[in-house]
Amino acid sequence: MSHDVIVLGAGLAGLSAARDLALAGSDVVVLEARNRVGGRVEQTTLADGRVVQLGGELTGEFQHAYLGLATELGLEIESSYVEASGEDSYDMIEGVVRGDWMTAEQRANHDRVEAKFCELAATVDPADPWSHPDAALLDNTSLADWLRSAGGGDEAVVRERALFHLGLADGSPERLSLLAELRKQAAAGATGFYDDVCWEGLRVAEGSASVALRMADELGERVRLEAPVAKVSISKGGCTVTLVSGEQLEASAVISAMPVGPLRDIEITGVSDPRLKSLARQRSAVTAKFVAGYSSPIWEEVGANGLAYGEGLVGSCWTQAPPAVVSVLIGPERIGVLLAAANDGEICSDMTHALARIYGDGMLEPQEVFYRPWGVDPWTQGYVTQWRVGDVLGVGPLHGTHEPPFYVCGSDQWVCGYMEGAVRTGRGAAAAALGLPAPEFEPVPGR
Ligand SMILES: Cc1cc2nc3c(=O)[nH]c(=O)nc-3n(C[C@H](O)[C@H](O)[C@H](O)COP(=O)(O)OP(=O)(O)OC[C@H]3O[C@@H](n4cnc5c(N)ncnc54)[C@H](O)[C@@H]3O)c2cc1C
Repeated sequence: MSHDVIVLGAGLAGLSAARDLALAGSDVVVLEARNRVGGRVEQTTLADGRVVQLGGELTGEFQHAYLGLATELGLEIESSYVEASGEDSYDMIEGVVRGDWMTAEQRANHDRVEAKFCELAATVDPADPWSHPDAALLDNTSLADWLRSAGGGDEAVVRERALFHLGLADGSPERLSLLAELRKQAAAGATGFYDDVCWEGLRVAEGSASVALRMADELGERVRLEAPVAKVSISKGGCTVTLVSGEQLEASAVISAMPVGPLRDIEITGVSDPRLKSLARQRSAVTAKFVAGYSSPIWEEVGANGLAYGEGLVGSCWTQAPPAVVSVLIGPERIGVLLAAANDGEICSDMTHALARIYGDGMLEPQEVFYRPWGVDPWTQGYVTQWRVGDVLGVGPLHGTHEPPFYVCGSDQWVCGYMEGAVRTGRGAAAAALGLPAPEFEPVPGR
């Protein structure tokens, strides 16, 4: 039996593509390697019923595709950690600082450089950064090098951005492409280096993984779990997808909704070499997430709001929706410490000691912890797209485009990853496969 469309991967991108196809009456099947849907969004429940997020969590006002989908699915949007009261914390090499660690003069210089960055970002078209007259120069300059020259050599600005980027876990600014960073902030309206409220001010009240779970419920048996794909053969006369088990499925079109790492492991024929090279050239930041649930919000005892950036193992830390739960990201330039640990007990000890340095010894006694080394998970091999110096031009304008009947979506196919990227490109791929114009994503009415 031949399907209309086979979708590879049941993350947010694959599920949103399949849902639109199914709603349009197409015969679609989703093949998923894992025994669960959601990919990089995953949630679990603590013994006392608190629902915690082990992958992607936060969204923001300008992320219309994700917010629109969540609303269509009947989910509620609420404010995120940005509303918590108390001081931000900075775990600097010299010690922990509560509140701004920069002097007034350093902060003023930071703000001046930030304004220049926003001006430059406004000259980049996020959909087509390659057409910028200085594209090659900007892509071959690291964010840190630009900060040094634009900031008059002020190392405090570079240090502030390093703290932030290692917190975001997309890599050190010494290695990030300036063009990629300008492109990313241009997509958000370039209101700052990175505007927390704009990118992370909101979340789905039921938990971000509920978006995937609701779509999977709607799709029912169209989603096949534990069905890892090994080979894809594309032809206008009919496509064949071969599972690791050897089973073969036929379809008129294939939508890949896989992360760029696992996609490289698949044998693909019938797709042009430049496209395969462009897909293979992309890389993901390799990171891990640690989640700890406590009996009370210990950080409040020291006047902290739970948001921290660090120069040690804790890249960043913030509070989740349920009370007394923190998320921690361990960035790509530090994850090696945990990968070298003997066992999970050692990792938990490393992480809780790192948290205790910031918030006090109460952090040494979590009720439950979870550790997800997404960077070495075979079905993810990363976290969000990492655009190192030279990568935007290396991947080139084929990024995020299709070669019918082979369509490509997934957060890695948007400017910079994120759940927004997954939904935006997933719904875009479905529209393209249906021969419809690219969808416009409008703000959710009433927001
Ligand atoms: C720790 C962490 C924190 C994050 N925080 C945020 C956040 O706060 N806000 C935000 O917007 N984004 C965040 N992100 C990013 C966001 O979660 C992802 O960008 C998004 O969920 C990716 O969706 P996707 O569908 O493109 O890919 P994925 O979710 O990775 O889905 C791809 C699917 O393909 C499957 N697959 C892989 N190989 C095969 C194969 N051979 N055969 C069949 N199936 C296969 C995978 O199992 C997976 O289910 C975070 C990610 C991580 C890991």
